[in-house]
Amino acid sequence: MRALSWALAFSLAAVGAAGQPADLVLLNGRVYTLDPGRRWAEGVAITGDRIAAVGTSVEVRRRAGPSTRVIDLKGGFVTPGFNDAHVHIDATGALLVGVNLLDVHSEGPFVERVRGAASRLPRGSWIVRGDWGAYEQWSAGSAGAAPAAGGPAGPFTPDRRMIDAVSPDHPVFVNRFDRSMFLANSLALKLAGITESTAAPPGGEIVKDAGGRLTGILKGGAADLVRAVIPPIGAEQRLVQVRAVLREAREGGVTTMQDLSTAEQVLAYQDLRRRGELTARINVRPQLYRAEDVAAIGLSRGFGDDWLRLIGFKAWVDGIMGNSTALFFDPFLHDPRNRGSLRQVMYPEAQEGAAMTMTAKDHYTRFPPGNLERLVKVAARSGIPPHVHAIGDLGNRILLDVYERVLTEEGLLGTDHRWRVIHAQHVHPDDFARFGRLKLVAEVNPYHISDDMRWMEERIGKQRAADAYAFRKLKNAGAVLIFGSDSPGTNAARYFLSPVYGLYAAVTRQTLKGEPADGWFPDQRLTIEEALEAYTRGPAWAAFEEDQKGTLATGKLADVAVFDTDLVAAGRTHPADLLKAKALYTIVGGKVVYEAGGSR
Ligand SMILES: [Zn+2]
Repeated sequence: MRALSWALAFSLAAVGAAGQPADLVLLNGRVYTLDPGRRWAEGVAITGDRIAAVGTSVEVRRRAGPSTRVIDLKGGFVTPGFNDAHVHIDATGALLVGVNLLDVHSEGPFVERVRGAASRLPRGSWIVRGDWGAYEQWSAGSAGAAPAAGGPAGPFTPDRRMIDAVSPDHPVFVNRFDRSMFLANSLALKLAGITESTAAPPGGEIVKDAGGRLTGILKGGAADLVRAVIPPIGAEQRLVQVRAVLREAREGGVTTMQDLSTAEQVLAYQDLRRRGELTARINVRPQLYRAEDVAAIGLSRGFGDDWLRLIGFKAWVDGIMGNSTALFFDPFLHDPRNRGSLRQVMYPEAQEGAAMTMTAKDHYTRFPPGNLERLVKVAARSGIPPHVHAIGDLGNRILLDVYERVLTEEGLLGTDHRWRVIHAQHVHPDDFARFGRLKLVAEVNPYHISDDMRWMEERIGKQRAADAYAFRKLKNAGAVLIFGSDSPGTNAARYFLSPVYGLYAAVTRQTLKGEPADGWFPDQRLTIEEALEAYTRGPAWAAFEEDQKGTLATGKLADVAVFDTDLVAAGRTHPADLLKAKALYTIVGGKVVYEAGGSR
C-alpha cells in the first residue's frame, strides 16, 4: 500500500514536471522575483492557479503545449502581484461610484459630477458626501485656516437649482468638505419633509434666498432632518462599489487587498466570489471590539482560504493628522490647546483621563488595563493578531505599552506573533527600539509623505517632523515594514490603489511635483528594492501567507503584475518615471484579469 502510493506520487510528479503543459507562459520579461534564491528571471510558467516554473525564456517556453497561451512580454517588468496592506474598500467604492467633489469649487464641474453619479447609481439611491471645496481649501490655507480674504465671491456655495435637472430620480445630500454646510436637492428635501415653512431645529439653519425660497443649503442640526431619512445602502449598490474597487486594483497590478471590513462588505466579497467576479484576493479585518464574538464561534488566525481570509482585528488608539486629532505629548503648534484625542475603543480607560496626563517620560501601563488592553488580550488568546492604528507620538507610546504588557503576560514576547502598529507615523525617539524588541510589524502608508509634508512642519514643528514616517529608523530598529495605499485617501488628496505612488513616495520623499529637490528628511528614504519588498513579500508575510504568495517561485499562487516600466531601474535612477509606469497585465490565480487595452 505504502509502496504503491509512493510510486503513484512519483509518476504523477514526473508527468507534472515534464508532460503536463502550462496554461500560461510569460517570456522575454525582466522578472523581479523577490525570491532571495533567484532575484531575476526572464519568464514564468503557470499551471492552474500556481506557478509551475520561473526561469529563462527558453526554460519556461519548454512548458508550453499546443493550447498554452504564450505572452511575449517584450522586456516588460514582472513582479509578484502587489499586496496592498491598507485599503478602505468600502470608502473607496463609495467615492468611485458616488460623487467625488473634493476638487470641485464651481458650478459647471459640480453639476457634471452629480450628473455622473446619477448615471452610475441605481434609480432612487442617494448621492451623498462629495466633500466639495477640499482641495481649494488646502491650497488656500495649509493648516486648515480660513482662506485668505479678497477672493471675488468667497468660497463656492451651490444651490439645489443647479442640480435638480440632472438628479430627478436620485435624492442628493452632499456636503462641503468641512461639513459646515450640506446641499440637498429638491427630491431629498421632499423626502425629508422640509418645506419653506419648516422651522430649523435649535443650532441649525435652513438657508433661504432673498425671495424666501429654499436654496437646499442646510447647516448644523438642520442636516439631521435629511440624515434621518437616508436608508443604509442596498446590497446591489454595495456590489457596484466593490466592483469599481476591484477594477482599480487590477488596473494597478494589485492582486491582494488587506481591508478594514464591515459585515456588509464581507458579505459582498463572498457574493462576488460566488459570481466569479472577485479579481483580487481580500484579507479581512473585523474591528477589535468584535474579538469576543469571533473567539466565541471558534475562528482563529487564517480562517478562510486563498481568496478571503481573516488576518487580524483592527482598532484605533487616536485620531488623524488631517483634522489634528492624532494624539501627541505636546500640543499642535497651530492649535496650542489641542494635543489630539483618543478613539472610542480606548474607553473606558482604567482611570478617567489617564492618557491625557502622560508626559514623554510616562508609560500607559502605569495605570491598570483599560478597554483597549482588555480587547488586545482577547485577541491574543484567539490567536488573531491585533492591527491597531496609532499616529501621534503619545498614541504610539500607548499602543507600544499595551502591546508590551499583553505580549509579556501572555508569554508571546519573542514569538512569531506578527502584531501590527498601523501608521506608526510619529514615533517618540525613545520608542523606535521597541519595534524591534517587541518584533512588531509597521503597516505604513508612504503616500502620506508626499501629501502631508506640505503642511506637517507648520503643525508639529521641525523636530517632531524629523521622526515622522521615519521608515529608515523603523527598519533599522527591527520593524518589518509593509506598505498600503490608505485608499481612498484624505480630504486633501485621493490616494490611488496603484502602487507606483507609494513606491515613488518611499524612495523620493517628495511631492508629486518633485519637491523638495533632495526629499523631505532624505535620510529616511528607502531603496526601490526595499519599497518593492514592503509592497509584495512583506504584506504576504505579515498576513501569514508567505508560503502562498509574495514571491515568484515554483508552487506559489500565480499572482503576477507586469508593468511597462522597469520599476527597479526607474526607482534607482529616475524615480519620477515610477509615476508614469502602467500595468500591462495583472494575473490572479493564473487568470489574466487585466490586460492594458483589453476589453475588461
Ligand atoms: Zn486608513
